[in-house]
Amino acid sequence: MGRPLMPTPQPLPEPTLRPTPAARHTSAAPPTSAAPPTSAAEGPLVDRFDRVHRDLRISLTDRCSLRCTYCMPEQGVPWLAKTTMLSTEELLRLAGVAVSLGITEVRLTGGEPLLRRDIVDVVAGIAAMEGVEGPIEVSMTTNALGLDKAAQALADAGLTRVNISLDTLRPETFRQMARRDRLDDTLVGIRAAAEAGLTPVKLNTVLLRDVNDHEAPALLAFALEHGYELRFIEQMPLDAGHTWHRESMITGEEILAWLRTAYELSPVPQRGSAPAERFFVDGGPATVGVIASVTSPFCGTCDRVRLTADGQLRNCLFAAGESDLRTPMRDGASDEELAQMFRMSIGAKLPGHGINEPGFLQPPRPMSAIGG
Ligand code: SAM
Ligand code: SF4
Repeated sequence: MGRPLMPTPQPLPEPTLRPTPAARHTSAAPPTSAAPPTSAAEGPLVDRFDRVHRDLRISLTDRCSLRCTYCMPEQGVPWLAKTTMLSTEELLRLAGVAVSLGITEVRLTGGEPLLRRDIVDVVAGIAAMEGVEGPIEVSMTTNALGLDKAAQALADAGLTRVNISLDTLRPETFRQMARRDRLDDTLVGIRAAAEAGLTPVKLNTVLLRDVNDHEAPALLAFALEHGYELRFIEQMPLDAGHTWHRESMITGEEILAWLRTAYELSPVPQRGSAPAERFFVDGGPATVGVIASVTSPFCGTCDRVRLTADGQLRNCLFAAGESDLRTPMRDGASDEELAQMFRMSIGAKLPGHGINEPGFLQPPRPMSAIGG
């Protein structure tokens, strides 16, 4: 298949959110994520731009069974210290506080969440929580290694669905991108997820130029054949090796151009707060998604907050700072005190991730230790 002519990349502007009038009173100086304001409103997790936070991403570990080049280096990863990792009880306590603040959906991620020995207990504990809209929806982002053995137990514990990373259908390219020879195991894990009813199974793909970009139509064909929902994610500047370059990343526009070499795509209306812009494939009903975090940021509708495996709350993937919940929790903080820390973190959230602004700095914590 020949390479299509790509449109010139057109980076979109950052969102121009304005603080609400009430929010302007909460802090005189422009807040930064490193310096939360000193007061925070009562109530649920609403920020200065009226964004209501409903979605909590919990990273269960920074360890991983793969070494994807856009995420982790081959060697020399500085692991989080074991003593700083949250226990099952600590994780569930913080999740419970978040649920009391209006969180309705929890996504477990990592590193590789299936490496946590207590994964079934974590899922069961969160799935048993009652939120403002009923039981909490628990999902997981995983590389699917070992999912064949765990899928049924996870489904029985209350896991509703999974997002699985699949960047290629070629063993050699898998070895090159993930630095491990595990394509077959990944495919087995994907099948097991579907068989256990963890549906819709969503597949996440990151395209790298001249590595797997030409595989976009083949990956879509695979997803359509099996009834999986495929989403392409633009590569973001979050890898521990600092290998991201704006000039070489595959943009959302290029992803669509690759797909249009084989399929007709038409936009699905009503995106809402979903990061993926979805397209009907050949008239539908099947769809494909593009998450263009870099060239078309969706920060204006962001409803996500993240908790790391060592108990740090991050109000944005790209936040330069974070709020330490582990230390006060271990020092005896009450649930209400922890809730106030959640509110203060959200109160300090910036309007956008700033990737396209001059002076943008990649956060010190890599994706594998934040949780995607
Ligand atoms: N290990 C699990 C997995 O791979 O699905 C969960 C953690 S991983 C960090 C979560 C998601 O982040 C994956 O879909 C992965 O492709 C994506 N990801 C990792 N590094 C990325 C980067 N630099 N840019 C964009 N997406 C990235
Ligand atoms: Fe591991 Fe997921 Fe990062 Fe790949 S993307 S190295 S599977 S955490």
